[in-house]
Amino acid sequence: MTQNDFASVLTRIAEYAAAYRAGAPARSHRPEIGYADMLERLGGAIPERGASIDALVTELIERAEPGLAAMTGPRFFGWVIGASAPAGMAVDWLTSTWAQNTGNAHATPSASAIEEVAGQWLLDLLDLPRESSVGFVTGATIANFTCLAAARGEVLRRAGWDCEAQGLFGAPPIHVVLGEEAHSTVFSALKYLGLGTSRVVSVAINREGCMRAEAFEAAMRNLDGPIIAIAQAGHINSGAFDPFIEIAPIAKQKGAWLHVDGAFGLWARASRELASLGAGVELADSWGTDGHKWLQTPYDSGYAIVRDRDAHRRAMLIAASYLPEGNERHPADYVPELSRRARGFGTWAMIKSLGRTGVADMVSGHCALARRMADRLASEGDIEIMNEVVLNQVAVRCGTDFDGERADALTQRAIARIQREGECFVGGAVWGGRQIIRVSVIGAGTTEADIDRSASAVIAAWRAERALNG
Ligand SMILES: *Cc1c(COP(=O)(O)O)cnc(C)c1O
Repeated sequence: MTQNDFASVLTRIAEYAAAYRAGAPARSHRPEIGYADMLERLGGAIPERGASIDALVTELIERAEPGLAAMTGPRFFGWVIGASAPAGMAVDWLTSTWAQNTGNAHATPSASAIEEVAGQWLLDLLDLPRESSVGFVTGATIANFTCLAAARGEVLRRAGWDCEAQGLFGAPPIHVVLGEEAHSTVFSALKYLGLGTSRVVSVAINREGCMRAEAFEAAMRNLDGPIIAIAQAGHINSGAFDPFIEIAPIAKQKGAWLHVDGAFGLWARASRELASLGAGVELADSWGTDGHKWLQTPYDSGYAIVRDRDAHRRAMLIAASYLPEGNERHPADYVPELSRRARGFGTWAMIKSLGRTGVADMVSGHCALARRMADRLASEGDIEIMNEVVLNQVAVRCGTDFDGERADALTQRAIARIQREGECFVGGAVWGGRQIIRVSVIGAGTTEADIDRSASAVIAAWRAERALNG
């Protein structure tokens, strides 16, 4: 392929990309074609001969587009999904262009140094101890894993055991203490780390899904030996925070390592008006959070933040004779992977593009929109908001006049209808034993008008199901 041909394909993709993004608000918020049909559309045997980039790009766009979800759309409220904002996306193209294998500071000074810079910015924005180390990982799942690996090594080291060298066989048992509604990916991390998912000590929670401080205290009181406590900043259904001010001193007094899963909630600390929600979070020992949720970086992007950088490095260090050493911060020393994408560029770009005020305004703006959504939905007589809307999450229960099972079934049908109609996208969950609609306001481009339109769509879908089945 000539340089000209390459340039013309890239230009075409750039034009397509701009149009695709601009078209997001007007497009249906549901994939037109489901998984089985997409397999069909994309499948077939390996071609005998290679195709031109131009032809394969045309083919891919044509075939893939109908199966795409509107995750950058302004009325997409499913799961907790950032909208991959333009600055991050644009710089992500540069990241691909430069193709830096981001393991070692000498091998790639730019991609490595930008992580150190962006890491300091993150600590500043989230107001976490500035001496902490930051590993640039794929997301909160691996951030939690990385932090808990540091925790595992350090609590055992204090008990006289070198886990990095000796493994877990014969090691003093580690107690893991967490809330009854810890995020499912925390259990994945425990599974990967050999700490087990069912030998945990579960702490009773309140209505918002947060650990009760006195239950935490009681659970910790009788434990002896190494302890890792895992708390949450931002419950996936309620957005609420564990009571850090109360639990952090208890953890400290027991010599426990306190880790915080703050995939999206940690970002409340970037906004002055919301920061009090996360008060005391800074007393913990490690924090996992996402870039691709509230910071709107492109996928994939998460941060493993550890106060004790030696513990972090001991857990992740790659010792290889072909890697130049020195005193620099080597990206690979703080994450599980050696070869990987230069994730620092996208983070740097998003912080640079929003600025401190922009991040704060976006986070508080989304929370105001979530309250607006809650108010609109609650205006329907038999719709109830189950959580206190302190952050960006709204847990919606429909059919308060029906008995529980009937309400649950109708709510599921309403969710299916909302998704089918495509005006907006919401997901569901079972919470407190009830089927709920989950609304997560976190995409960069959502406006008040989008909220009103979506609230009307949700209410209309609910009314339709109620009328059909009620
Ligand atoms: C999203 C989320 C995770 C997992 O993050 P990924 O980016 O999907 O790896 C973990 N904990 C909480 C609270 C989350 O919201």
